[in-house]
Amino acid sequence: MKLLEDRIKKEGQALSETVLKVDSFINHQVDSEFMDALGRDFAEHFKDAGITKVFTIESSGIAPALMTAKHLNVPMVILKKQTSKILNGNVYQTRITSFTKGTSYELTLFADYIQPEDRILLIDDFLANGEAAMGASRIITESGATLAGIGILIEKSFQRGRKRLEEAGHRVYSQARIKRLDAGVIEFLAEDAPVTDVEENE
Ligand code: 5GP
Repeated sequence: MKLLEDRIKKEGQALSETVLKVDSFINHQVDSEFMDALGRDFAEHFKDAGITKVFTIESSGIAPALMTAKHLNVPMVILKKQTSKILNGNVYQTRITSFTKGTSYELTLFADYIQPEDRILLIDDFLANGEAAMGASRIITESGATLAGIGILIEKSFQRGRKRLEEAGHRVYSQARIKRLDAGVIEFLAEDAPVTDVEENE
């Protein structure tokens, strides 16, 4: 998606071979009009998928997920990151390990907010190794609902997440795909470029 690529070129900061900082419009300060445009694009892309709810993972996915839900005219649900297991209550939980941050958390969803007949569109800001998306997929599957699509703002295509999700049978659409990062360098991959084999890395 040209709009997002152009913004990344202008404001994105490649900190290393693996980390891209987009704090000025996605992760810290949020550009609401821009998020609305991204949400419209996701809604258009998945308009034939029968989506009944948009899910996201707190916190940076919330803004684009909300805009997507607005354009699809469905509710948005936030999967929470809890530090420990919730022992009472009707919840789905699964452990996620964040390689980028070296931390782990319990991805948590109250059962009231998902039904077996739901068709879910998952929206997240970054796709790296696919840990967060695979965790969300486990929760959705456990509830009996269907993960009908995954929308990502920025896919780091040199990491293994995209391949993992496609191998698991998911429909993935990334608005920007990054082929290579290095200090001060950001190279993009075409939207329809094939998914290549990647080393397990961060
Ligand atoms: P994954 O679960 O796919 O391994 O990692 C995705 C999650 O890690 C995203 O939800 C995002 O919060 C974070 N993340 C991964 N790589 C980056 C990055 O390069 N920049 C930023 N800002 N967040 C990242």
